[in-house]
Amino acid sequence: MSGFFHEGELVGVVTTQPLDRMLDYKAPEGGCHLGAFVEVPLGPRKVLGVVWGPGKGDFDYAKVRSVIRVLDVPPMRDEMKDFLTRAGAYTLTPLSAMVRLATRSPGLGDPPAMRKVFRMGTGEVDRMTPAREKVLAVLEEFGGLSFTLKELAEQAGVGPSVVKGLAAQGAVREEDSPRDLPFARLDPSRPGKELTDDQAAAVAALDRDGYSTTLLKGVTGSGKTEVYLEAVAACLRRGRQALVLLPEIALTSEFLTRVEERFGARPAEWHSGVTMTERRRVWRMVADGGAELVVGARSALFLPYRDLGLIVVDEEHDSSYKQEDGVLYNARDMTVLRASLCGAQVVLASATPSLETWANAEAGKYARVELTSRFGDAVLPEMRAIDMRREDLPGSRWVSPTLQREIAKRIEKGEQSLVFLNRRGYAPMTICRACGHQIMCDHCDARMVEHRFLKRLMCHQCGETKPMPTACPSCEAEDRLAPIGPGVERMGEELAELFPDAKVVVLSSDLYGTSRELKAHIEAIAEGGADIIIGTQLVAKGHNFPHLTLVGVIDADLGLQGSDLRAAEKTFQLMRQVAGRAGRAEKRGVALMQTFQPEHPVITAILNGDEEAFWRAEAAEREQAGMPPYGRMAGVILSGPEVGPVFDLGNALARNDGALKRVGAQVYGPAPAPIARIRGRHRVRLLVKAPKGAALQGALADWIKPVRLKGDLRLQIDIDPQSFF
Ligand code: ADP
Ligand code: ZN
Repeated sequence: MSGFFHEGELVGVVTTQPLDRMLDYKAPEGGCHLGAFVEVPLGPRKVLGVVWGPGKGDFDYAKVRSVIRVLDVPPMRDEMKDFLTRAGAYTLTPLSAMVRLATRSPGLGDPPAMRKVFRMGTGEVDRMTPAREKVLAVLEEFGGLSFTLKELAEQAGVGPSVVKGLAAQGAVREEDSPRDLPFARLDPSRPGKELTDDQAAAVAALDRDGYSTTLLKGVTGSGKTEVYLEAVAACLRRGRQALVLLPEIALTSEFLTRVEERFGARPAEWHSGVTMTERRRVWRMVADGGAELVVGARSALFLPYRDLGLIVVDEEHDSSYKQEDGVLYNARDMTVLRASLCGAQVVLASATPSLETWANAEAGKYARVELTSRFGDAVLPEMRAIDMRREDLPGSRWVSPTLQREIAKRIEKGEQSLVFLNRRGYAPMTICRACGHQIMCDHCDARMVEHRFLKRLMCHQCGETKPMPTACPSCEAEDRLAPIGPGVERMGEELAELFPDAKVVVLSSDLYGTSRELKAHIEAIAEGGADIIIGTQLVAKGHNFPHLTLVGVIDADLGLQGSDLRAAEKTFQLMRQVAGRAGRAEKRGVALMQTFQPEHPVITAILNGDEEAFWRAEAAEREQAGMPPYGRMAGVILSGPEVGPVFDLGNALARNDGALKRVGAQVYGPAPAPIARIRGRHRVRLLVKAPKGAALQGALADWIKPVRLKGDLRLQIDIDPQSFF
């Protein structure tokens, strides 16, 4: 197939609009390349699209409209088109939605150097004012990124004249848009840290080019990051690009500084905290080769790399790699697909791999490299259960006497303790002591959670909040509403009472406006800004707490309840990770888990540190049940404003399951989804289970093909569902 279309030739364009087919256009004056990003007319609008191939020509040529213009960016490469096509086929997502994922760069088509941008300058400020300080603080915080005037003024919460005033003095530098400004070259030949034997062996095992996937397993602090940075160095030396994916919350300035120390320059960043200006630049420079290393959140996988040679997925088990709205994809799995298409190496790093990855390594599909000890003197924390059946604790108290004693010892020594509870807010439930009424969300089948800090009740499903009432909404009794159960805010209260002289801090995402603020706060606390830290799973991810020597888990049983097939796996990972926060520096840490069932196999596996035993047992159980990764699964969520039609559709689908039966798949349901109503929409769930080798996607597509969604009904398919809400 020719790679170029002359003016007037028909081209097939996939637009970013939700259409299920390609549209024919005439190539514009000057022609266009295969893969070109173009602007085309669609009805009265101009929309973005990609030239996917020759046009079909099944339409009156005279009526076919022309491409409006070709954008000034490198055409999409065949490998990327291939990737989007396959990823779309795997997740049953229309190509248009995949193209949308791959074009999420603002102002993609803007002509170069159209705008002025601002970044940190070197000039002295004659007179410091609070407004000026704010601007400089924002620039400082974003570490050298550039902003448009509007972006910077808004971030700082000041008027544009403040920025201009600083620019006039050179304290802020004004320059042409850096859209076409390459990133500073990284120097892979700078010496890294001197590696331990373990680490050196791991680096040697990772030294390969072309497609391969390796599980890099090692406890927190064993030097996984150190090792994969060497793999990045090797990739850069080959002249190829590298991508490091991290869960959003782990994308800290601490991490970026570490990369900078290793390579002498900062990498390109791609995550929700990056300015629009910077996103434009990253997208282009990735396509151009002017960005050698990208450090980003899951969507960085859809950037247009020129020659991607390595993808690292750090904390590969993390559930945030699964996108749960819009296109439902798992970035970890899509990474392996993309790498296999572009001949890149994949490194999946984790202290507690997902069962899928563990099983792939067991089966020999992935290589496995292990770091067995922590770096330096840091040792794994000692782990013990606190048997709550033997602790003397009044009804609405949660910190056992044993845990209290341990915390007191830490405070005496000037060390930090972390009290972990994976529940945001003050109390998970608010109940009326007069009539027993529970306050529920008006739109969801979920309890409202009291957030004392915000002085409101909040629904954790839809985010709806309302003021905390004083009277029961049902029986109108005054002052009889009582919080039931613990949340992190309530733990904060309890600990402050127990340790009135200690500095107690609650770390929860609601307490901070932006993720940057939160990260900055966590860093300050880690440096010693608190004696007792109370946190949700936020703190389990990626942060270093050098002074932390005790972790107390309030409710180790919490994750073991519920219908989630991954409950055991998630509890295991979370507890191990939380425990891994203790004793990272030279001090040995202790992790104590409060539990009512110390004999539970998951709890004992955690305590014994016998990971392989845990995975083998878990794998055997899933294999027995034909569950992933030993069988295939897809979730179907139907939703609508009225419950009747949603169930009718579910029943009709369950009855007409011929297409599924042909591949040996079975349908379960319809049943109300575990959360039967979200934002006023009723939700019904079907589960499809199939044998491992089954051609599930094709069967699912055939199965739902006859469905005509009437009114406001919606159908969403989730291949390899992670959660079952
Ligand atoms: P992980 O990614 O497995 O949690 P890291 O790579 O972050 O582990 O290493 C933990 C800590 O030990 C870091 O502060 C790191 O700089 C340090 N470290 C690891 N390996 C070495 C080494 N070979 N020499 C010096 N410091 C090291
Ligand atoms: Zn709600």
